[in-house]
Amino acid sequence: MKMPKHLRIHCPFCDKHTIHEVEKVKKGRPSSLSWIVGQKKRRSGIGNAGKFSKVPGGDKPTKKVFLRYKCTECKKSHQRAGFRVSKLELVE
Ligand SMILES: [Zn+2]
Repeated sequence: MKMPKHLRIHCPFCDKHTIHEVEKVKKGRPSSLSWIVGQKKRRSGIGNAGKFSKVPGGDKPTKKVFLRYKCTECKKSHQRAGFRVSKLELVE
């Protein structure tokens, strides 16, 4: 999915439609599933791996992205609910 870098959307601070700069919100940790990988390792080896014998595991095919919208008039930024997309590109 392609996303324009500048969007004209409603600003909750100015209470009107203004040009907003789109910015991706960076996640603190690369994967929230890291704990399950460690658990899986402990269960691997000979025999039944318990609940991990069924589940293929790993990450979901799509990542949830969060975007921050910065108003160019009041310089304040607000966020909208994140959505799932395989790839997100910011275009001019
Ligand atoms: Zn504003």
